[in-house]
Amino acid sequence: GAANGSSHRDIFVVHSPNVVYTDSEIRSKYTYRTTKVTRGAEGKYVATPNETVYDFKVDRKIPKVGAMLVGWGGNNGSTVTAGIIANRRGLVWETREGPRAANYYGSVIMGSTMKLGTDAKTLQDVNIPFHDVLPMVHPNDLVIGGWDISKMDLAAAMDRAAVLEPTLKAQVRKEMAEMVPLPSIYYPDFIAANQEDRADNVIPGSKACMEHVEQIRKDIRDFKAAHMLDKIIVQWTANTERYADILPGVNDTAENLLKAIEQGHEEVAPSTVFAVACILEGAPFINGSPQNTFVPGAIELAEKHGTFIGGDDFKSGQTKMKSALVDFLINAGIKLTSIASYNHLGNNDGKNLSSQKQFRSKEISKSNVVDDMVEANNVLYKPGEHPDHTVVIKYMPAVGDNKRALDEYYAEIFMGGHQTISIFNVCEDSLLASPLIIDLVLVTEMMTRIQWKAQSSEATEKDYKTFHSVLSILSYMLKAPLTPPGTPVINALAKQRGALTNIFRACVGLEPESDMTLEHKLF
Ligand code: NAD
Repeated sequence: GAANGSSHRDIFVVHSPNVVYTDSEIRSKYTYRTTKVTRGAEGKYVATPNETVYDFKVDRKIPKVGAMLVGWGGNNGSTVTAGIIANRRGLVWETREGPRAANYYGSVIMGSTMKLGTDAKTLQDVNIPFHDVLPMVHPNDLVIGGWDISKMDLAAAMDRAAVLEPTLKAQVRKEMAEMVPLPSIYYPDFIAANQEDRADNVIPGSKACMEHVEQIRKDIRDFKAAHMLDKIIVQWTANTERYADILPGVNDTAENLLKAIEQGHEEVAPSTVFAVACILEGAPFINGSPQNTFVPGAIELAEKHGTFIGGDDFKSGQTKMKSALVDFLINAGIKLTSIASYNHLGNNDGKNLSSQKQFRSKEISKSNVVDDMVEANNVLYKPGEHPDHTVVIKYMPAVGDNKRALDEYYAEIFMGGHQTISIFNVCEDSLLASPLIIDLVLVTEMMTRIQWKAQSSEATEKDYKTFHSVLSILSYMLKAPLTPPGTPVINALAKQRGALTNIFRACVGLEPESDMTLEHKLF
């Protein structure tokens, strides 16, 4: 099937002197246009258009990819696994509302489109699936595996999660019963004490050590070999951990972090041990939970090894709404003055977050999500001025995975008036997170096959490089986007999508999506 790259068919070709297709590559010469701003004599801005020419090179061969999940037996892990199996087999199941068929709704890559251009004759937009812009892996072809501190097989884990319909579960049960998570590392201090009874599948040792790093690296190699995979991508969808203290000499540099692991320092989290193992193994690692897995030493280690990392915290429900709505309000010139966010949920994530230190990780991750939008509007907000923002999360077992998020947005409008927007958002948390897990794997994998070089007369083939190790292009899927050290964080949803679409477009020599539609205005 698609695993050998044969089933992908390009649905379009770019006709341009700047784009060349070979059997193995798409090469594009792309002019990146920006505006340089300086201060003139009387403090006036001087804006100067600027151009940089880049060569992009996309490897067209679609590899066979394994996705290994840490926390595989959790709600997200079992749900995404069942979802991929159901899609692969084209399953249809009965529900009280009639038959339902497997789909990838909620995945930007699999469920959304982008405008390719305008029909030469009719002048109507021509839209294509996002998945077809570049030669991407199909999620049906992913081989899923992973680790969990609970040894429950995936069929039983799916029952425990209580997310999917029984008629669907019945059809995937046999296959899932054969999937058993690998033993994982468990340092009790990092997750809530109420998780202890789950931990029956652990590698001996309750603090970081090199043996743990080596075991994880071996697990990755073994999985790769067993399934004859070209590449593995690892994702943390395990419990939210508490924050690790950033300690000089312990986790501040790559060297110190490795030394701290060797010496069994108590402040190294399991997720950081996974990250280090993946970085050393050259397997991209994405953190879907809010904790500070990527301590400075881990980021430096990734940069040194040129391994991709991404995080933090899946942006699935409340925050996704927030990063769209606040973007809209502030860009509409409406002065948002407060956001009050309440959540209650009854799944194991909620149980873990009922513990203060773990909640604190989530609170931090959910708190900074409007900063960039507020800062950008120096008409509405004075420097340092912020809307009030509070986040509350309560564990309510009865609602299970059906998380409730209640948000009140309070804003100041024209002439001292007020606008209050209340949102009540209900949905299965894991059905929102699963497609994000897929998107993160697909985009990360794609990024491993894109190279670039800045154009100059002396530049040669070997000057091609990959993107920076910290994949900020994943921001759309993440609540607290990790960016290369010293670079700005973008939370605004529309900008995040713009970065993703337009970088993909540049790789095939297409201009950024422009909404000017002059063809409909100037004639
Ligand atoms: P879950 O509690 O159902 O699953 C987590 C799994 O991780 C459990 O099976 C647990 O046994 C396992 N685990 C814990 N520590 C481990 C370790 N050290 N190694 C291996 N496995 C370990 O939670 P979930 O609903 O699947 O969510 C997973 C994570 O994703 C949570 O941290 C949550 O905050 C985060 N997240 C979820 C969403 C969402 O579901 N919409 C959104 C954003 C972030």
